[in-house]
Amino acid sequence: MLRSRRFRSLRIIILLIALFLVAMNTWLSSVRIQSWQRPVWVVLYPINADGQADTQMYINALSAEHFDDINRFFAREAGRYQIGLNPVTEFHLAPPLDVQPPEIDIQAGLAERVFWSLSMRWWSWKHDNWQGPKPDVRVYLRYFSPRENQQLSHSLGLQKGMIGLVNGFASVDYMGTNNFVIAHELMHTFGASDKYSLETNEPIFPDGYADPQQKPLLPQTRAEVMAGRVKVSPGWLLIPKSLDDVIVGPLTASEIGWR
Ligand SMILES: [Zn+2]
Repeated sequence: MLRSRRFRSLRIIILLIALFLVAMNTWLSSVRIQSWQRPVWVVLYPINADGQADTQMYINALSAEHFDDINRFFAREAGRYQIGLNPVTEFHLAPPLDVQPPEIDIQAGLAERVFWSLSMRWWSWKHDNWQGPKPDVRVYLRYFSPRENQQLSHSLGLQKGMIGLVNGFASVDYMGTNNFVIAHELMHTFGASDKYSLETNEPIFPDGYADPQQKPLLPQTRAEVMAGRVKVSPGWLLIPKSLDDVIVGPLTASEIGWR
């Protein structure tokens, strides 16, 4: 009886130490990233999410250069905030993974989210096929065939855990939009918050607008990276086709330590 109780206490202590180490590690990486002293190392892991042959062909043809406009976006926007770092990000492409990450419903409650976030980190550790130096952030790219005409589920970025999960279409036509979603989820791992309404998808005024001072206010022509959409007119929202039309607004810049 006494022995089993002692054993249980020992297990709890080990678990607490492990959780403490994970928390310390996360805290240290966000402090390091937010000091912007050296480029953030990002490893991208492509995954064939629907098992289609055309999805696989697209994945096989991917190379790190296909993500260059995300580098250009971060360098351009960091420059506007006088961050003397160029490049700001460095992308590396891991070999394709043939396992699927744990899923979560966007409506999930707090307990489910915590559980998912822990299982995601466990999954990421267990299936890491990257041979190079340890990345600051890992982004899993789940690709789907555009021919299936389906609605993609939400992409996610975990600041605690430095993990992004991006759903995208496996087609060059969607490359610009996919890169925009990757930039958005990366910003979450750097500490940025969403700037759109979860109910209506509308950008929140003023922080979710790229040009909140513009008169007249609409149509907006560019997106704030954490708002995700451009408000053209009442009821008309557009997802940017490329990062050329996306900016980092002042509030987002403060959240990630650029101001
Ligand atoms: Zn978001």
